Amino acid sequence: MTPQIMTEITAMPIPGHIDPVPVPREVTPRADGRVDLIGLSRTQIAALFLEAGLDAKAAKLRAKQVFHWLYHRGVTEFEAMTDIAKTMRPWLAQRFVIGRPEVVEAQVSNDGTRKWLLRTADAHDFEMVFIPDATRGTLCVSSQVGCTLNCRFCHTGTMRLVRNLTPGEIVGQVMLARDVLGEWPRGSMAALDIHDDFDDAEDDESSDYTPDGRLLTNIVMMGMGEPLYNFEHVRDALKVVMDGDGLALSKRRITLSTSGVVPMMARAGEEIGVNLAVSLHAVTKEVRDEIVPINRKFGIEDLLQACADYPGASNARRITFEYVMLKDKNDRDSDAHELVRLLRHYGLPAKVNLIPFNPWPGAPYECSTPEQIKRFAKIVFDAGISAPVRTPRGRDIDAACGQLKTAAERKSRAEVDRLLEEKQAALG
Ligand code: SAH
Ligand code: SF4
Repeated sequence: MTPQIMTEITAMPIPGHIDPVPVPREVTPRADGRVDLIGLSRTQIAALFLEAGLDAKAAKLRAKQVFHWLYHRGVTEFEAMTDIAKTMRPWLAQRFVIGRPEVVEAQVSNDGTRKWLLRTADAHDFEMVFIPDATRGTLCVSSQVGCTLNCRFCHTGTMRLVRNLTPGEIVGQVMLARDVLGEWPRGSMAALDIHDDFDDAEDDESSDYTPDGRLLTNIVMMGMGEPLYNFEHVRDALKVVMDGDGLALSKRRITLSTSGVVPMMARAGEEIGVNLAVSLHAVTKEVRDEIVPINRKFGIEDLLQACADYPGASNARRITFEYVMLKDKNDRDSDAHELVRLLRHYGLPAKVNLIPFNPWPGAPYECSTPEQIKRFAKIVFDAGISAPVRTPRGRDIDAACGQLKTAAERKSRAEVDRLLEEKQAALG
């Protein structure tokens, strides 16, 4: 990243106010001094082992084994790592831990959607949602506690950003979901051929290994936060999630949604390579400036050009344009025609996802009527662009798009208005 872009995205000062896009606070270290390995790559784990006293060869080998146990098998105790010498396991446990986000509350919607309120080690709350359907199970993962942006229709946008989530806290959501769904591979690893050492390791005799992951098949970075304002952590986390020897989810099953942080989009394509979703939501500067205020910084033309340049986009891997349906705001027939024109003009391999607005207390908009949503969808569809209407899921437990907001952060209307003003001032 050039220093210029770095400045642009990390510092949006508000005159006379505290900076609403703070340089994220570092994570408070664990009180007992042990290091949590979740979120770390093989190389990082090897470096820690080296630092703790292993020689280079042993550090590399141990890191490879531990990586596999952590992410592929989901174990939470070093004692369970049966191909690691028995004497070595307490050595690991004295220095390291295998963490999970703490679950504060778990809710299940009457449509099967589940929502978890999670807490970081330094006591910040964030949310994660699992949406099962007939053919897939999608985990909606958060990237930040709160969000620095304030899209006017989004409940998370009324929260003050507390901090970026670490790679461990991002990967930790996927690990936790697998724990809860009971979806770790079972049986012996003997066939996997990664045990080439130490005689006092226990022998795995059977070869009944079965991979798992049938319920959790897809990941969307659509929980709390703007993933491209936490680029490095999101990238490192997704690399672990995609690693063939780790959680092993294909990049084709992962979607990153951005509100339009244009300067980071090319890097997202090159360094992460997952599917891209863009929260477009409006086709004119006037309306998008109002409802997605980051538009004042990075406008529609620049955003669509960045989409056209997105590495890996093709007809086989289309970019999803998210469009929240707001009554009398962005839902006219003319908006639909303009949307088609713009997508064609930029030659975008596109799919439009129409999202009925999910209400929250004090929201300044209403959802478009079902008839108007249908009309809008038909106009886009008749132009040859796929335009499914997203079925709202988990509305009864506030788990649907844009409803995530932790209880600790619920504020009075006056406080919310003041925060929005602060955030908008920051965007200029
Ligand atoms: N910050 C990222 C990802 C999280 S939001 C982004 O904005 O893209 C995930 C999606 O939910 C976005 O498309 C967002 O615009 C949409 N959304 C937010 N609030 C909503 C609401 N109240 N109703 C419907 N969709 C909403
Ligand atoms: Fe943040 Fe996305 Fe909500 Fe906008 S829609 S406030 S970017 S979480």
